Amino acid sequence: MNEKWLNKVAVITGGAGGIGIALAENLYRKGCAIALVDINDEALNNAKTQLQAINPSQTISLHNCDVSSEDAIKQLVVDVLAQHGRVDFLFNNAGIAIVRSFENHDIAHWKKVIDINLWSVIYGCKYFLPALKETKGSIINTSSLAGLLGMPYQASYSLTKMAVKSLSETLYAELAVSDVHVLVVHPGAIKTPCLEKAIEGSDNPELTAKLNQLTASTAITPEKLAARVVKALSKRKQRCVVGADAHAVDAIKRVIPSLVHSLFATLFKKFYR
Ligand code: NAD
Repeated sequence: MNEKWLNKVAVITGGAGGIGIALAENLYRKGCAIALVDINDEALNNAKTQLQAINPSQTISLHNCDVSSEDAIKQLVVDVLAQHGRVDFLFNNAGIAIVRSFENHDIAHWKKVIDINLWSVIYGCKYFLPALKETKGSIINTSSLAGLLGMPYQASYSLTKMAVKSLSETLYAELAVSDVHVLVVHPGAIKTPCLEKAIEGSDNPELTAKLNQLTASTAITPEKLAARVVKALSKRKQRCVVGADAHAVDAIKRVIPSLVHSLFATLFKKFYR
């Protein structure tokens, strides 16, 4: 337990899944109260059991909420404040990836990914902001390596993750006057079910599995990611790039901004064949 974190309240969307539950566990161990937000009831209950095994007396609330619904987020704010009385950290973490070629990306795919990955973040930032201003709290938005470089077969995912980066940068500057801090996280590959789920909806499962194999070599655990994010949060940093793959892309983009895309296209062509 640590004075700095004790009795602070963290709201974590996608909180019952891979990265979300790792963030929850890290902060719970430090003494934070946790509001776990997810659409999967069974996973929410399992997550609660996991946290209570660490300390049965700390506060945890469960919220079955579809973050892509504006009304549901408005209700979430009411429910969280009714149960916890304050919000210190909002983790806009829930997200999905659809791995399909641009040609086979139906409009329904685009809408689904934009709703879950982008509108959810806009709703979260907007409706939790009054509570975060009260505590001078933090918004932590999960972008991706795909928020740094457009990924083939992930047009909708890359678009939303770049938009999350853009919104986070704007809010970092704009909300400074209110002492509300905004952190954007760019993880590379993380060992969570997200990668396997991507194969299920893919129009090219073989290619997706090959991409997963490639990323598996640099993938890190969600626990390691969570530790890095919480460290960046405690220092009120603007961005947090995590993983060798994300660091490599970040560095290459700075060094050869004009060449990185043709290099990436050549690599992908070879890989595709
Ligand atoms: P995950 O699939 O393991 O967990 C996501 C969680 O979000 C699940 O519990 C799911 O039930 C929940 N969720 C999905 N749709 C929801 C909705 N509409 N409302 C509420 N909850 C919903 O995924 P993860 O790997 O933990 O990913 C978390 C975040 O990290 C995502 O934004 C993802 O894009 C990002 N990310 C993941 C990786 C990776 O390699 N795993 C890399 C970079 C970024």
